[in-house]
Amino acid sequence: MTTRHIPADLPDHIQHYIGGRFVDSVDGDTFEVLDPVTNETYLRAAAGKKDDIDLAVAAAREAFVNGPWPRMLPRERARILHRIADIVESRDARLAELESFDSGLPITQALGQARRAAENFRFFADLIVAQADDAFKVPGRQMNYVNRKPIGVAGLITPWNTPFMLESWKLGPALATGNTVVLKPAEFTPLSASLWAGIFEEAGLPEGVFNLVNGLGEDAGDALVKHPDVPLISFTGESRTGQIIFANAAPYLKGLSMELGGKSPAIVFADADLEAAIDATIFGVFSLNGERCTAGSRILVERPIYDEFVERYAEQAKRVVVGDPQDPATEVGALVHPEHYEKVMSYVEIGKGEGRLVAGGGRPEGFPTGNYVAPTVFADVPKEARIFQEEIFGPVVAITPFDTEEEALELANGVRYGLAAYVWTNDLKRSHNFAQAIEAGMVWLNSNNVRDLRTPFGGVKASGLGHEGGYRSIDFYTDQQAVHITL
Ligand code: NAD
Repeated sequence: MTTRHIPADLPDHIQHYIGGRFVDSVDGDTFEVLDPVTNETYLRAAAGKKDDIDLAVAAAREAFVNGPWPRMLPRERARILHRIADIVESRDARLAELESFDSGLPITQALGQARRAAENFRFFADLIVAQADDAFKVPGRQMNYVNRKPIGVAGLITPWNTPFMLESWKLGPALATGNTVVLKPAEFTPLSASLWAGIFEEAGLPEGVFNLVNGLGEDAGDALVKHPDVPLISFTGESRTGQIIFANAAPYLKGLSMELGGKSPAIVFADADLEAAIDATIFGVFSLNGERCTAGSRILVERPIYDEFVERYAEQAKRVVVGDPQDPATEVGALVHPEHYEKVMSYVEIGKGEGRLVAGGGRPEGFPTGNYVAPTVFADVPKEARIFQEEIFGPVVAITPFDTEEEALELANGVRYGLAAYVWTNDLKRSHNFAQAIEAGMVWLNSNNVRDLRTPFGGVKASGLGHEGGYRSIDFYTDQQAVHITL
């Protein structure tokens, strides 16, 4: 066995960042952060509670009320955001190395995510400069126009899958629009989030605009949601957590953006380009270790090609390379945390009683320790099965046959989630009509999951509330005031 690559200069302690200074928790408490390959504690992070959130919100509030950031011209803010993107890009290899080590993501995929993080800042920097607000005229009578204003302190709560990129998806628009922020990153993966402070300082972001509090969701996250001086919360995470946050934010009538769980279908019709569909549906559920909100974790296949699809899919799944996250040849790394590993493995066992196991089904050979799961494929999975209905969030996929378009639609829509869907058919009319009928926030037709940052991102049903992406993010992070003038 080759020696494992460990990133140089790993910290052993991570602090909060409040009002431009790195600080420990008021009560001195810390929590353990594990390396997903060994499950040994490799650092301790400050465990924030209400007192720490109070300090961070006070700093962010001070920067909002008295600091320059909300009052700067969009062009001035955009310059700083572009500098942030430049710095992220220039450190993409280091960011990927740390992200991969902390989260278990394959290094090549972590590199792509670091670059996407830079792109998120660039995109919102450009958008805010190009922003035009509405004006309406009633000739000779009235003129009406819109003033767009930042809202205040934005609370940003993020999950552990692709943490750095998902943080940038919130930080970019929240900052571009002139808000100040308190970020509460996921407790499994605090390493990459700790780099934002240095990047922002270097780019010239004024003190107090960005604040970071580490800690558990039920402590630090909860205090942020319940803080009266935080008028909006952007949350990405599990649907169950979204429900709790929704209830906790209700007494304050906060603005909420909720990007939640998924159990997205890929529907493969008999006339599809089979090779392209297999490649894409393999990537769709096994990339990012299957720890991906938009994973195509249910594949619905039309009966005439079903047997061939299952056979070829299983063969290809067996060839997916499981390995050390830092190895460039690795396609599936180690799952983020032993707790999550146990959850995914429990679904693998449940699946053995619900479907026909055709690939994987446990630990891959040669990996006696660490959170490794072999890419696992179940065929003949009925609609009622738990592995069909519930989000597993790992490298596990359920394949189900269908006979008619109506049945395909019923299966596709027959879960509580509605985040993404993927449709494979060469029938032009069917593809568009089917897309329209699917209960999903985003549909890809004959396509891999490729995002265009101008389009709406979000789910329906239990997958979310509200949309971000393009101008919708600007709308979420700003108030729009109508001004009416009688002429
Ligand atoms: P999670 O809900 O457990 O945690 C997400 C964040 O919320 C963490 O920072 C956590 O500390 C915090 N949190 C937990 N309880 C809280 C509470 N009571 N109050 C405030 N904050 C609280 O989710 P996770 O396991 O970290 O992430 C995986 C989930 O995220 C999956 O369901 C996945 O589908 C979803 N996800 C969705 C999208 C999307 O865009 N729709 C993107 C990525 C991940």
